[in-house]
Amino acid sequence: MASTITFIGAGNMAGAIIGGMIESGFSPDDVIATSPSDDVLAPLRERLGIRTETDNATAVAQSDVVVLAVKPQIMREVCEQMREAVQARRPLIVSVAAGLPAEILEAWLGGALPLVRCMPNTPALVGAGAAGLFANDRVDEAQRRLATELMEAVGLVEWVEDEALLDAVTAVSGSAPAYFFLMFEAMEEAGVTLGLPADTARRLAMQTALGAAKMALASDQPPAELKRNVMSPGGTTERAIAHLEQAELRRIMAEAMTACADRAAEMA
Ligand code: NAP
Repeated sequence: MASTITFIGAGNMAGAIIGGMIESGFSPDDVIATSPSDDVLAPLRERLGIRTETDNATAVAQSDVVVLAVKPQIMREVCEQMREAVQARRPLIVSVAAGLPAEILEAWLGGALPLVRCMPNTPALVGAGAAGLFANDRVDEAQRRLATELMEAVGLVEWVEDEALLDAVTAVSGSAPAYFFLMFEAMEEAGVTLGLPADTARRLAMQTALGAAKMALASDQPPAELKRNVMSPGGTTERAIAHLEQAELRRIMAEAMTACADRAAEMA
C-alpha cells in the first residue's frame, strides 16, 4: 500500500517538493499539505489535486511520513502541538528546516522517532536542487528509499552518515547558490567595464555557468581536465586562470566555506 505523506507547512519549499513529487509520479491522493490558513492551501489543492488539512494533528494521524517544512523559529511550537499525534502514529519524520539537529526535533516531538534531516538549497524551487540527507539509526531501508524519492523529486540527493557533515553540505550546496550569484554580479560588472550592456553580460555569464555545470555533470573527466581543455598555451583562458590562481581563489573559497560550516555548527 502507498505511503501517505504529510507536509507540515505549505510554503515555498513544501510547494516545490510536492510539485516535483506529483510530476515524478506520486499520487496526489497520497499527499496532504497543512497550513493554519485555507487561503494558502486552496491554490495547492486546485493546482495539484492533493489533500489539505488545517489541523496538523489530524493530518499526522493518517500519515506514514511527516515532512516538517515550517520556518525554524516556529518549529518547536508546531512540534509540541502535534507531539501526541506523532507518538501515537510514529511516522517517519523528514525535516527540511535549516540548523535544527535530529535530537532536538525528536525531543520536541516526544522522543525516539525515525528521523531524516535534510539540508536542501533554493534551486529546489526550480527542480534543480542539491540536498544532503542524514538518517538517525531508527530509520529503516524502506524509509531511506522513500526519503530519497521525495527529495529526488526536486534535484540531487547525497546521504551523509554523520549528522555533523550536514554543516559541510551547508557550505558546499546549502549556502552555495549565493556564491554563484555573487560570481554573476562580479562577471556582469566586469563585462560592463569591458563595454557590454549589463543585461547582455548577465545573460552570457548565467548561460555559461549553466553550460559549464551541464558539461561537467555529463563528462567523466574531472573539472581540472575540463579546465585544461579550454586553455590553449598562451591563450586568453590561460591568462584569466593564471590571474585567479595568483589571487588565491582556492584559498578564498576554502576560507569562505569553512566560515560557513563553522556558522552552521554554531547555529545547531
Ligand atoms: P515559508 O514559505 O514561509 O513556508 C512555511 C509555511 O508554514 C508558511 O506557509 C506558513 O504559513 C506555514 N505555517 C506557519 N505556521 C504553521 C503551522 N502551525 N502549521 C502548519 N504550517 C504553518 O518557508 P520556506 O521557505 O518554505 O521554508 C520552510 C523550511 O524549509 C524552513 O525550515 C527552511 O529552513 C527550510 N529551507 C527552505 C529553503 C528555501 O529555499 N526556501 C532552503 C533550505 C531550507 P504562514 O505564511 O501563513 O505563516
